Amino acid sequence: LFITLEGGDGSGKSTQSALLTRWLHEQGREVVHSREPGGTDLGLELREIVLHRRGHIAPRAEALLYAADRAHNIATTVRPAIEAGAIVIQDRYLDSSVAYQGAGRVLDATEVRSLSLWATEGLLPDLTVLLDLDPTVGRSRLDEARTRYDRLESEQQEFHERVRAGYLELAAAEPDRFLVLPATDSIDDIAARIRDRVSALL
Ligand code: C5P
Repeated sequence: LFITLEGGDGSGKSTQSALLTRWLHEQGREVVHSREPGGTDLGLELREIVLHRRGHIAPRAEALLYAADRAHNIATTVRPAIEAGAIVIQDRYLDSSVAYQGAGRVLDATEVRSLSLWATEGLLPDLTVLLDLDPTVGRSRLDEARTRYDRLESEQQEFHERVRAGYLELAAAEPDRFLVLPATDSIDDIAARIRDRVSALL
C-alpha cells in the first residue's frame, strides 16, 4: 500500500503523516515513512541544491532534479518496502511535481507527469491525501514556526495560487485516488478522516 500526502507549504503534511504512521504502527503494521525531496542520502544532496542553491534554476532543470530525487527514492526505498509488504506513507510525490513544476512553473502538466512516471517505472499511489490550504494561511503558519523557507520568501503569491489550483485540478480528475481535506480543520479531525479512509484500504 502506497499512501502519499500532498498540499502547499505549511498545510500540515508532515504532522499528519507522522500521526498516520504512528497509528499504523500501533495497529501492528509494518510502515515506512518517507518524503520528497530528500528521502535518501542522494535526495538530501539534491534537496540542498534545489532549495538552497543561490541563483536561478531553469524550470526544466528543476523538474529533472525533483525527478532524479524521486527515481532514487522509489528504486532504493519505496519499491523494496512495498514489495516486502510494508505500507509506505510519503510526504509529496508526483502530484507535487505536476502542481509545482507544472502549474507553478508553467511546464506542460502531461509532460511533467510522464517524466515522473518514467522516473518511477509507473508507480502510482493507492491513496493521495490533499491538504488544501489558502497559500496566505500556509505562509503565516510557516512564519509562526519560524521555518526557513528560502524559496517561499522569494516566490510570488500567484505561484502558490497556481500550485493550489493545480492540486485541486488533479484531485478533480482522479476523485477515487484523492481524499481532499481542508487543512484549516483541526489536526485531530483531519487525522480521524485520514484513518477512516486508510482503514477501508487495509
Ligand atoms: O514539503 P517540503 O517542506 O519538504 O518541501 C520543500 C519545498 O520544496 C517546498 O517549499 C516546496 O515548495 C518545494 N517543492 C517544489 N516542487 C516539488 C516538491 C517540493 O517546489 N516537486
